[in-house]
Amino acid sequence: MIERTQPPDLAPSARRDEAAEERPLPTPDEMYAAVLARDTRYDGIFFTAVKTTGIFCRPSCPARKPARENVMFCRTAAEALELGFRPCKKCRPLELPGETPEPVRRLLAEVEEDPTRRLNDDDLRARGHDPVALRRWFKKHHGMTFHAYQCSRRLAWALGELSRGARITEAGFGSGYESLSAFQDAVRQVTGRSAARSRGAVVVQISRVATPLGPMLLGATEEGVCLLEFTDRPMLETQLRRLAKLLDCVLLPGTNEHAARLEEELREYFAGRLREFTTPLVTHGSDFQRRVWNALREIPFAETRSYMEQARLIGSPGAVRAVARANGDNRIAIVIPCHRVIGADGSLTGYGGGLWRKKWLLHHEGVRGAWEGRRTDPAQTELGLGSVDGSS
Ligand SMILES: [Zn+2]
Repeated sequence: MIERTQPPDLAPSARRDEAAEERPLPTPDEMYAAVLARDTRYDGIFFTAVKTTGIFCRPSCPARKPARENVMFCRTAAEALELGFRPCKKCRPLELPGETPEPVRRLLAEVEEDPTRRLNDDDLRARGHDPVALRRWFKKHHGMTFHAYQCSRRLAWALGELSRGARITEAGFGSGYESLSAFQDAVRQVTGRSAARSRGAVVVQISRVATPLGPMLLGATEEGVCLLEFTDRPMLETQLRRLAKLLDCVLLPGTNEHAARLEEELREYFAGRLREFTTPLVTHGSDFQRRVWNALREIPFAETRSYMEQARLIGSPGAVRAVARANGDNRIAIVIPCHRVIGADGSLTGYGGGLWRKKWLLHHEGVRGAWEGRRTDPAQTELGLGSVDGSS
C-alpha cells in the first residue's frame, strides 16, 4: 500500500528541477548493479523507489536490497515524492548526500569561532547533543571523533600562529595544551617535524562539502583553494599524499574564507545561478600541467573541447596524450572544468569522478551531445513512465 505524502518544506535535492527531468539515466542494469554494490558514486544521479514498501532511497542506502522487479528508478527525489513514495529514514534521500545537519553545523561554527576552547561531553549535552551519536557522525564524515576534530583544529590554529611569527610557548599554551612537550608531540605527530621547523609549514584546511552529486573534499590554504574532489574518487588517498608532498603541507580538518567562498559558489553553481567561479585557486604542478589547467579554465560554461583542440591551444599539438593525463591530474574538479573536455568523436571518454558525474555536469550546464543516446530512455520505458521527452 503506497501512502500519499504531501511534500513538506523540501530540501534542495527534492525541489523541482526542470533540467533534471530530462537528464539521461544510466541503463537499468547499471543502476541495479550500483544499488547492489551500494555505490556512493551514483548518489544524486538517481533514486530507487520500492513498490512493495512505498519507500524511496539513494542508491547507497545501507538497508536490505529490494528485488529487481520491485524497484523503480527516479531521476529526482521530487519525482519519487510526486509518485507517492516516502523518504527512507536510513539514507535520508531528501538531504544532500553528506550534508551536515544543522545542530552539527552550529557546533562546528562554535569550534571555528574559538578553536582553542575545549568542549567536553557535558558541554555537548548542554547544547542538546548526544556525545555517542556525535562521535559516530564525526567518525563517518570526518574519519575521527569530535574530540579528535577539536584537537586538530586547535593544532591548525597553533601552526597558523607559529607561521605568523608567534613563539612556540605562545602558540602551545595559547592553543590550550597543558604542557609544552604535549604541544611539541602533537606537532611532530602531524607534521613529522619539530615545532620550530614547522614554522613555515603550509596548512591545508580540509572540509567536506555536500553537493547533489555526493560529498566533495575541499582543501584550502591561506592563499586559495587547492583541492576539490569527490570523496569516493578511487585515487583520492594518493592525491592527498601527493598534494601534501607537493605543497610541503600539513593537512588538517577545518575551513577558511576561501573554502567558505567556494562552498557558496558551488551552491550557486548547482542551483544553476553561477557560470564562472571567482574563488582564488592554488595550483601546484609542472609548467606543462599548469598550462593545461589554465587552458581548461578558458573553456566557457556549457561548451566542450576535444583533447586535440586543447593540445593545439597550449601550443603542443603533438601532446594529446600528455594533455589528457594532465587533465586527469586536475585536483580542483568542477572549478577547473576538466569535465568540459570530450573525445574528438564526441564521446565522453573518462572522468576521475565517474562518467555519470561528467554527464550530469555537462547536462546541468546545458550541453547536449550524442552521448546522451536515444531520446526515449530504456530505463523509463521499462518502468512504464513514458518517454523522456513526454511527446509520445
Ligand atoms: Zn534508504
